[in-house]
Amino acid sequence: MNYRHSFHAGNFADVFKHILLTRILAHLLKKTTPLRYIDTHSGAGFYDLAGAAAARSPEWQSGVARLARGLDGLRDRAVKDLLAPYLHCLGPFDAAGRPSLYPGSPAIARHMLRAQDRMTFCELHKGDVKELARAVGRDRRAKVIAIDGYTALNAYVPPRERRGLVLIDPPFEDRGEFERLETGVASAVKKWPTGVYALWYPVKQARQARGLAEGLGAEIGRPMLVTEFFTGEAALREARGLTGCGLIVINPPHTLESEARLLLPFLSAALGQEGGGAWAISPVNKA
Ligand code: SAM
Repeated sequence: MNYRHSFHAGNFADVFKHILLTRILAHLLKKTTPLRYIDTHSGAGFYDLAGAAAARSPEWQSGVARLARGLDGLRDRAVKDLLAPYLHCLGPFDAAGRPSLYPGSPAIARHMLRAQDRMTFCELHKGDVKELARAVGRDRRAKVIAIDGYTALNAYVPPRERRGLVLIDPPFEDRGEFERLETGVASAVKKWPTGVYALWYPVKQARQARGLAEGLGAEIGRPMLVTEFFTGEAALREARGLTGCGLIVINPPHTLESEARLLLPFLSAALGQEGGGAWAISPVNKA
């Protein structure tokens, strides 16, 4: 396991994923009944963007820092309202566009969920497990478990609460990760067909990404929303590092598509390079 999220925290992919994560949670929180949040690949929880890892690989500068600048010119009330839960998790930015600590997905869930909700955070890297457990402290709503994310996915669904969200956000270090993701999620959906699942993936080869959405859509037959975001033509031409990613949401909240249609153009203008990024939104098996 070589992947360390601290080198990537706050990059465009995190901003895209975490904004959509807050929109899904905001919808689930409209009902008072308890929910379960399961994070199969949690990471450390918080990231210091002024720390050594972020200094060596300052991806946050083309992510959250660009977002901070984009907010200055944002006049659209509806977009501001949709961003509010995410920005609330971040707190104030410094002059460089850094929050004091960048919140990973477990920190966002802990910030948004209520006393009646429960969280299961799974992570395999020993150092991250330790850091996450320290961040969670005595929060009795959350459990940190050192376990393989796909084993957890199979073991922890359906949760007792019978409503909630599973975030599957693997590092994509292994060649077989797309296949593993598809098989793991398809079998979890069979066990818990009504849960909401959000799967993050990198778009390095369009064919591979399309294959994942098509394969899953056909296999599970559930409504899905496929959203993709690219930092733009210039970034694609340079082909340095990751320039596009996607989030497949299974059983998406009915509000998510229209919200994404407002948010992604803003993100595209704020995070896109040389004249803007690109995005795609495709409903599959629409209910
Ligand atoms: N979900 C986090 C967030 O949004 O802040 C970021 C997660 S990061 C992309 C992927 C994480 O998966 C890393 O922290 C890595 O240590 C962890 N990981 C790698 N292999 C794993 C496995 N088999 N099971 C669980 N976690 C794993």
